[in-house]
Amino acid sequence: MSGAALPVADAGTSGCQDLPVLKQRGQREVFCGLTGIIWLHRKMQDAFFLIVGSRTCAHLMQSAAGVMIFAEPRFGTAIMEEKDLAGMADMHDELDKVVSRLLSRRPEIRTLFLVGSCPSEVIKLDLSKAAERLSGVHSPEVRILAYSGSGIETTFTEGEDTCLASMVPQLPDDGSENSLMVVGTLADVVEDQMVRVFEQLGIGPIRFLPPRRSADLPPVGSGTRVIMAQPWVNETVEALQRRGANLISAPFPFGVEGTLEWLVAAAEPWGVSRERVEEVTAKARERGRASLARYREVLEGRRIFFFPDSQIEIPLARFLHRELGMVPVEVGTPFLHRTHMGPELALLPRDLTLSEGQDVERQLDRCMAANPDITVCGLGLANPLEAEGQTTKWAIELVFSPIHGFDQAGDLAELFARPLRRAQLLEV
Ligand code: SF4
Repeated sequence: MSGAALPVADAGTSGCQDLPVLKQRGQREVFCGLTGIIWLHRKMQDAFFLIVGSRTCAHLMQSAAGVMIFAEPRFGTAIMEEKDLAGMADMHDELDKVVSRLLSRRPEIRTLFLVGSCPSEVIKLDLSKAAERLSGVHSPEVRILAYSGSGIETTFTEGEDTCLASMVPQLPDDGSENSLMVVGTLADVVEDQMVRVFEQLGIGPIRFLPPRRSADLPPVGSGTRVIMAQPWVNETVEALQRRGANLISAPFPFGVEGTLEWLVAAAEPWGVSRERVEEVTAKARERGRASLARYREVLEGRRIFFFPDSQIEIPLARFLHRELGMVPVEVGTPFLHRTHMGPELALLPRDLTLSEGQDVERQLDRCMAANPDITVCGLGLANPLEAEGQTTKWAIELVFSPIHGFDQAGDLAELFARPLRRAQLLEV
């Protein structure tokens, strides 16, 4: 592992790295991992996601993604009926027929993901075996993989992690060639910005997981340096490490500071100095700082409470605190990977509650008692909290919007400023 020296939250402390974590288990209010298909299918333009699930799964996907579909969708649900659940042999036959029909109707598909759901898991339908069997029929034209997006096994963004992890065994081996792999789905515009900066720094080749097209699977080997672009790709990164890749430890590229530290850490194994990264990014950082200055007035000193949702909560709390002067009261995360989150924890102030997992009723009580200025939560909690007079921000928007990098720092601040401005207007 390698990384660059980082500033810490307060001199003489290590931020929140050794802060006790409040762990609670109970009822939780989080989308299941199927939701990741919404951004994954837009990124991988020749992939199709076939959910093997129930009408509930189909409805979830339709209501979460339906309004965004302009062309023929690249995801669908093979709906399991009661008769399917009665006998396993029929179920496999049915699935084979559905896949054959789909692939003959959609010849542009190059990767087909069979996505497990709660019902397929409950009846122990082995989709990995099904993927192997179907690959025998449809490869090499179509690569067929399986992963779980079920609400029993995964929450919200974990669906992307299990999807990307399923691709790791397929990545070609590139021995010890030096390369940088950026892991986690990014908006194309953000990816293009990153490539330009890396090119100016003389770092490369740069590869992305997931790639835009199936044919561009990034190779991996002992010369591969991996850097996380999204905080939820933990299992994928561990799978890449098992294939010999080296993880670069860094804060996430949110805000001006986070993006700079991320680039500095990425550049270090190539012998590129912090000074050189600062020089190359000077103009972009200036633009980012100028755009943030406009939001400081609205956000400074405002208290913020994060319910656990996407695993993006800790990096965002760090950004809002350090670059905009907000005060995090509680920062909840569904899971805390201490190693991957270490550089972020080092930058958080200590006077907050760090919580992992959820017992939603108890957390709602803490939120009401804290009475923050703004609460970040899932859609299911936003309406009840608004009804109680709280200002909320839908966590899902933070995952769907391009928010990485210097040029998106202002847009990220705007996502928090908007609900606060609206609340102010309503108060007048
Ligand atoms: S996978 Fe499970 S939690 Fe997700 S929509 Fe289907 S039944 Fe619901």
